[in-house]
Amino acid sequence: MKVYKFGGASVKDAAGIKNLTSIISKEKESLVVVVSAFGKTTNALEMVLKAWLAGGNSYRDHLDNIYSYHAAVAEELFPSGNSAKGRIDMSFAMLKEYLLKAKKSHYDFEYDQVVSYGEIWSTIIVAEYLKRSGLNAAWVDIRSSLLTDERFRDADILWNESTGRIQKIFDFSKFSMYVTQGFIGGTINGQSTTLGREGSDYTAAIMANMLDADSVTFWKDVPGLLNADPKWMQDARKLEEMSYREAVEMTFSGAKVLHPKTIKPLQNKNIPLFVKSFLNPSEKGTMVVASPTLTKILPVYIRKENQILISILPKDFSFAMSDNLSMIFHLFMLNGIKVNLVEASAVSIDVCVDDDRPKVETLLSSLKDDYSIIYNENAELLSIRHYNQEAIDRITKDRDILLQQRTRSTVRFVARKN
Ligand code: ASP
Ligand code: MG
Repeated sequence: MKVYKFGGASVKDAAGIKNLTSIISKEKESLVVVVSAFGKTTNALEMVLKAWLAGGNSYRDHLDNIYSYHAAVAEELFPSGNSAKGRIDMSFAMLKEYLLKAKKSHYDFEYDQVVSYGEIWSTIIVAEYLKRSGLNAAWVDIRSSLLTDERFRDADILWNESTGRIQKIFDFSKFSMYVTQGFIGGTINGQSTTLGREGSDYTAAIMANMLDADSVTFWKDVPGLLNADPKWMQDARKLEEMSYREAVEMTFSGAKVLHPKTIKPLQNKNIPLFVKSFLNPSEKGTMVVASPTLTKILPVYIRKENQILISILPKDFSFAMSDNLSMIFHLFMLNGIKVNLVEASAVSIDVCVDDDRPKVETLLSSLKDDYSIIYNENAELLSIRHYNQEAIDRITKDRDILLQQRTRSTVRFVARKN
């Protein structure tokens, strides 16, 4: 069997769902189809949540817009009526009912209870349309089989508890394909959780791992994985093949094209990943495998914005490396700050981190008694994998470089953002 994943852009309207159906009908093998919320529905649900938490009734207008959007898509797909419409109506009614409750719990919890609806609605409509088109498809609510812990908004999968459940439900005994939700899961107590923004990629990889899939395909609005974000570099080019290692390095360095947790479940079972365009489904796309056979290697450019470069110097001149390193990094971890680059010398440590303001400030204030701290905000982290001189010149020209770090395969620069 194979896993297909369709992101929000591929299912933003009725035409997108018809296109998905045509892609799926060409597949001969059994399929698990993982689907995101329609278009920008997740952002829209975040607005509902924000308005609701702020109090008052304005959240209702946001919700009505989302409802009209889904109703219009369903109307176009099923002009003579269909049970999908009734199920969508019921599901919206449930969410409205939920939002009437007086006592609100903490943000992350409420986020997951509200925002997870986007994937429920999209999959109800998609599954119904596949059935209407004569495909032997079943809709599965993944929340009762993909179990997670209670770290709402960034839930971790309970692998032992989930694997058996997933294998039992997705057993292909009665159906040749299943449509299910990306991005969401459930706790043992039946509460909804989410896996972090753009988490549908991760869901697809988890499903592939648990079901021992032959491959996973992500259908995206780009021709494959590119050697740079095309919004940044207009001449970005498609990579034919890439190793798992490379893909992990890319997401770690800030490439937003894959969810960072996606590769591990695939690498662990050696399952190939294909990234292809839903606009040109017959084109080859990019293949991510353990050892690519490619001969031509392009430099890969990755930019991570909104960084802060912090220099930490022990006031007593004690050696940064031996005496202070573990204590300092422990503090970063405790404050939930992700370290993107480290450079250490005898008496100082430079660290480049995401500029997550309240967290960074708490960290700095707990260091300030023992360390002098200098920092550069408004920085960006630029990485080039498989660099050459031309690639370096391109990146460093017109930039004020604060720090650079080079290994055989990668060069990284922290630059002041211009
Ligand atoms: N719908 C979710 C989001 O927009 C998950 C996903 O698209 O992967 O973040
Ligand atoms: Mg998406």
